Amino acid sequence: MKTVAVLGAGIMGAGIAQVAAQGGYKVILRDLQMGIVKDGLNTIKKSLEKMVEQGVISTTQKKQTLERIQGCTDLSIVRDADLVIEAVVENIAVKKQIFAELDHLCPAHTILATNTSSLSITEIAASTRRKDQVLGMHFFKPVTSMRLVELIKGMDTSNDTINKAREFVRNLGKEEILVQRESPGFVVNRILVPYLNEAIFALGEGVAGKEDIDMAMRLGAGMPMGPLEMADIIGLDTLYSVTLTFYNEFRDPKYRPHNLFSTMIRAGYLGRKSGKGFYNYKEPKNQS
Ligand code: NAD
Repeated sequence: MKTVAVLGAGIMGAGIAQVAAQGGYKVILRDLQMGIVKDGLNTIKKSLEKMVEQGVISTTQKKQTLERIQGCTDLSIVRDADLVIEAVVENIAVKKQIFAELDHLCPAHTILATNTSSLSITEIAASTRRKDQVLGMHFFKPVTSMRLVELIKGMDTSNDTINKAREFVRNLGKEEILVQRESPGFVVNRILVPYLNEAIFALGEGVAGKEDIDMAMRLGAGMPMGPLEMADIIGLDTLYSVTLTFYNEFRDPKYRPHNLFSTMIRAGYLGRKSGKGFYNYKEPKNQS
């Protein structure tokens, strides 16, 4: 693989384009409007400048990385790509339409990956005639510093596709795990989300106060931060919607959100980004 096209120049797309270019790949970064593409390229530039300041990379490396990335709005440019990583909005209809278009535009050997957090890889793959060459490639935020990538097999994904994706991920200096059978939340969120939900249950039932719950998991379980602090950082609306997805998909009451959680969402307590969640924040903060 030499050329990678990243679709969507938002938070995840810009990060994926950056790490792919740092890994030596030629990158095409595509979004719907040139203004959004430029914002993505700017985010990458700033991130690389910070890495130069910290002595992580040299000025020459920064320059070479930026030279490897080409921004565009024209989807037909994917005809030059060996791998396409889709990181557009989390909407099944949009993703299926894009994958159908990619299937027509890309050469036969091109692998198509989606960075979806929650949608079915099999359903997305079914909109193409190359289901064996479609997989989930789930990066974590912030992409530049989180080392894990989950590789997810859809019903028909071939081992050859997984092996090529694995080689790509390793060339980025990241580590992969294989999700052998697609399932809501894959592995990380499947375990993390019920854990965070359980912390909210403990708070809602009055088992302990919020600071004590967070301290318990930091000092007693070696977690780098408490679950309620983490929920505030993720964004309570995002966490709530994933919790409901689990509840609906598995039809298992163990995934139900506590009433305290539902009430906080109705009150507009969304965590750090809204200035209030389990904790109060002086100024609303972006998650990025
Ligand atoms: P975002 O809103 O920051 O960016 C999405 C981008 O896609 C926008 O710039 C939008 O203009 C663009 N877009 C929409 N339709 C498009 C199209 N048809 N063609 C090209 N571009 C299009 O979203 P994000 O947080 O970067 O998430 C992108 C994907 O990554 C989603 O599927 C999300 O579930 C997944 N994801 C997000 C996170 C996270 O923490 N934010 C983590 C892992 C995976």
